[in-house]
Amino acid sequence: MNGINRPKLKTLQQREESRFLADHPQSAALYQRAQSSLLGGVPMNWMKKWAGAFPIFVKSAKGAHFTDVDGREYIDLCLGDTGAMTGHSPEVVAEAVARRAKDGITLMLPTEDALWVGEDLQRRFGLPYWQFTLTATDANRFAIRIAREITQRTKILVFHYCYHGTVDESFATFENGVVGPRRGNIGPPVNPAETTRVVEFNDLSALEDALKHHDVACILAEPAMTNVGIILPDAGYWPAARELARRYGSLLIADETHTICAGPGGCTALWKLDPDMLVFGKAIGSGIPGATFGVSEEVAQRISARIHLEDCDVGGIGGTLAGNALSLAAMRATLEHVLTPAAFTHMIPLAKRFNDGVANEIRAHSLPWNVAAKPPHNGGESAASADFELERFLHLYALNRGVLLTPFHNMVLMCPATTATDIDAHTKIFASATRELASQ
Ligand code: PMP
Repeated sequence: MNGINRPKLKTLQQREESRFLADHPQSAALYQRAQSSLLGGVPMNWMKKWAGAFPIFVKSAKGAHFTDVDGREYIDLCLGDTGAMTGHSPEVVAEAVARRAKDGITLMLPTEDALWVGEDLQRRFGLPYWQFTLTATDANRFAIRIAREITQRTKILVFHYCYHGTVDESFATFENGVVGPRRGNIGPPVNPAETTRVVEFNDLSALEDALKHHDVACILAEPAMTNVGIILPDAGYWPAARELARRYGSLLIADETHTICAGPGGCTALWKLDPDMLVFGKAIGSGIPGATFGVSEEVAQRISARIHLEDCDVGGIGGTLAGNALSLAAMRATLEHVLTPAAFTHMIPLAKRFNDGVANEIRAHSLPWNVAAKPPHNGGESAASADFELERFLHLYALNRGVLLTPFHNMVLMCPATTATDIDAHTKIFASATRELASQ
C-alpha cells in the first residue's frame, strides 16, 4: 500500500513484538506447555493468527472486557467474532444455562424453549419455519442441501471472498474468470469448480450470467459482506438480485450470522430482503453452541414432500446434539433479554462513534486507508487492498495497550456492555499508532 514507510513499520513492529513478549510471561509459559499436547500449541489452528508471538490465554471475561492470565485487562472489540456480541456471559443467560444444565442438557427430544425461539425468529425475520444446529456452518450446509434437494440442481453461487464457515463449496475463488480452490484451503474434497459458481458482489450482470445456466440451486450470501472488510450492497442491488434468483429458479439464502449486528431482524428486516432461507448463528445463544436456519412456506412444503420418515435420521441434515435443550435455553434467554431492540439502539451509535473517531485520524494524517470514505465495492477490490503487515502491526499495537481486535478481518464489534469510554480508548490508541507511523 502506498504512503506507508515500510522500514519504519518494520522497526515499530519489532518494538511491539518485544513489548508483547515482556508483558505476557504466563501466556508464554502456557503456550510453551501446549506444544506437547495441542497440535501447533493451540486448541484450533486459527488461534495462531492472533497478533503477537502466541495467543494470550484468558482468565475471565465479563461484558465488554476480559482479563488474561498475566492479570492484564482488555477492552474486547472482537467479542468472539460475534459469538459474544451479547457481551461475555450476560447474567440472564448464565442463569438460564445453569438452570438448564441442572435439569437435563440433551435428550434428542424438544423442550418448550424451542417453540419460544421459533416464534421469536418468525417475528424478527418473517420466515415461518425454523430448525436448529450447533454452528452457523452446519446451518449453511443444511440449507444448501435443502436447496439442492428441492431444485434438483448441483451448484451453489457465492460471492468472491465470502466466508460462511467451513462449508466446502464456499472455499472457492475465481481468478481471470476461472473458479478454483481458495488459497489455504486444506484438502478440498473436489475442485470447487464442480460445485460452485463465484461472482463479484454488486455486479448484477455477472450474477445473471452465472444464473443463466439454470444449474444454481441457491445463492448463499451475506446481505453485506463482512469477512473481507465491510462491503455494502449498492442501492437497488438486492431487489434486483432477488428478482434474478426468482427468474432463474435459484433460492436465496441470507447468512445473517454477522449482519445481525444491523438490528434485531438483521439486514433482512432492515432492507426487506425476503430470502427463501435464513441462517443465524454464533451470537444467538451468547456463545453457547447453537445456530438456526429458517425457511419460507414454499421451501417448507417442497422439502417436506421429499423427506421420508424412514430415512429422516440419515439424510445428511442433523447432528445428535442439534436442537439440544441447553442451546435452546441459551437462545431463548439471549433473544428475550439480551439482543433486544433497546440493545441495538445502544450499540449502533457506538459503532458510528468508532467509525468517526478512526476516520478523523486517517484524514488528519492523509493516510490512504478506508473506514467509510470510499469503501471497496466487492470482494476482489477489498482483498487487493488488504495489507497483512500493516494490519498485524495495528492489531498488536492495540493489543499491547489493552484493546483486542479480531485477527481475521477488520470487523469491530460493540456489545450491550460496551461504553463510549471503551470506544474512545481505542480511538486514542489508533491515533497514537498512526501518528507514530506517519512521523518521519
Ligand atoms: N457465516 C458467516 C457470515 C460467518 O462469518 C461465519 C464465521 N465467521 C460462519 C457463518 C460460521 O460460523 P461457525 O464458525 O460458528 O460455524
